[in-house]
Amino acid sequence: MATLPVILILCAAHSLAFPALKELEKQDKNLHLVERYLKRYYNLETVDKPITRMKSSNPFSEKLKQMQDFFGLEVTGKLDPATMDIIEKPRCANPDIANYVTSESHSKWETTNLTYRLLNFTPDMMQADVEHAVQKAFKVWSNVTPLRFTRIYDDISDIEISFVAGDHGDNSPFDGPGEFLAHAFDPGYGEGGDVHFDEDETWSKGTDGTNLFLIAAHEIGHALGLAHSKDPGALMFPFVVNVNTKDFQLSQDDINGIQSLYGLSKNPVQPTGPITPSACDNLIFDAITTLRGEIIFFKDRFCWRNLPQTSNTELRMIKMFWPSLPSDIDAAYENTDIDQVLIFKGSKYWALSGYEILEGYPKNIYKLGFPRNVAQIDAASYDEGTRKTYFFVGEQYWRFDEKKQKMDKGFPRQIEEDFPGIGHKINAVFQSDGFLYFFSGSVQHEFSLKTKRVTRILKSNSWLSCTEK
Ligand SMILES: [Zn+2]
Ligand SMILES: [Zn+2]
Repeated sequence: MATLPVILILCAAHSLAFPALKELEKQDKNLHLVERYLKRYYNLETVDKPITRMKSSNPFSEKLKQMQDFFGLEVTGKLDPATMDIIEKPRCANPDIANYVTSESHSKWETTNLTYRLLNFTPDMMQADVEHAVQKAFKVWSNVTPLRFTRIYDDISDIEISFVAGDHGDNSPFDGPGEFLAHAFDPGYGEGGDVHFDEDETWSKGTDGTNLFLIAAHEIGHALGLAHSKDPGALMFPFVVNVNTKDFQLSQDDINGIQSLYGLSKNPVQPTGPITPSACDNLIFDAITTLRGEIIFFKDRFCWRNLPQTSNTELRMIKMFWPSLPSDIDAAYENTDIDQVLIFKGSKYWALSGYEILEGYPKNIYKLGFPRNVAQIDAASYDEGTRKTYFFVGEQYWRFDEKKQKMDKGFPRQIEEDFPGIGHKINAVFQSDGFLYFFSGSVQHEFSLKTKRVTRILKSNSWLSCTEK
């Protein structure tokens, strides 16, 4: 899915004297794209003059800053690759900053017994599968609130659901395949509460296409009065990530949102959901790796990207970058010589080239030469100098020769003998500037490869930007 972002330099003050025509065209196209995005999702007013200069303070860069803040990007007010990357992703067509009519109204339904109707079906799926997906999507919200939903057939319902394409008469035209997937109206009469799916998407009950259940659950959130959430783990985040729909769990952020409108569930045991981790927590990481100059920290369903040259770290769902990777991975390392990142979970491993998963994976770790009693790897790191990879398992470690593609003789060895002082259970490790950083629990040991000694003990989250407000 995601391709690596295009490097984009857009700053009139530092512009090249004679930029190539192609480069100018690309800048123009991107500017146009961003302007449309900010108008649509951030309520940017139409400007009469074309935007050609990026001054540090103008309505455009102010809105861009708002957008960057919403997505947890570095707030610069300038177009950078990370910002363009977000702008190019397919998403829900509802705004992130509501226009002031809706934000003032905080609309919600006055009753907890609501009706819905399916006005038509998509030819992409069997009718029964559409009905099932929609019913399940309503259940996501009724499970955690006193809300009850009844499907009706003949009369006009509160929440009217339809599949429509292109301009469909509500001033918010769809755009063919990609970009806008669906939208929904806030609670209210008439079109209030209605949900529109873009028929030009390929709807699906699985992951081959756009998953109807997930998008429906998100849009019904809007139909009930919820706006977009900044929490990247929330269903109400503007991108719906294709998670495993079988054990779908509504996040605590979504539960708090909907309960603030309709109250607690009538269930004696209040439902709870997964809480998205924060960079300020005492974090225990699953795995850490470098990736083309970035450092990626994995935890549960999430990863933080530590980008070079910025003080910012972005928190994202793993599946937003690599849709088929599992959560809760065990170990990861980058082989810089062949530009691959290897990801381990249990006895399986995957190879990534940037943001793509290579074909033919997952493979079995026993092919690398591990004995059968190794059920999983705790941590791994590649050493550029020797072209060897270190695998840490319990109190022992193995050394793998990447050139010969086999385990070195004489292993496993005791970790404590060769890496003294780094603690017992290693959760994650990565290498940077001649140091190995071993993470155990919520601390990390900086280990000098030169002196073979621990040089510093740091908190595990020291690489992330903890900016608690
Ligand atoms: Zn939405
Ligand atoms: Zn519509």
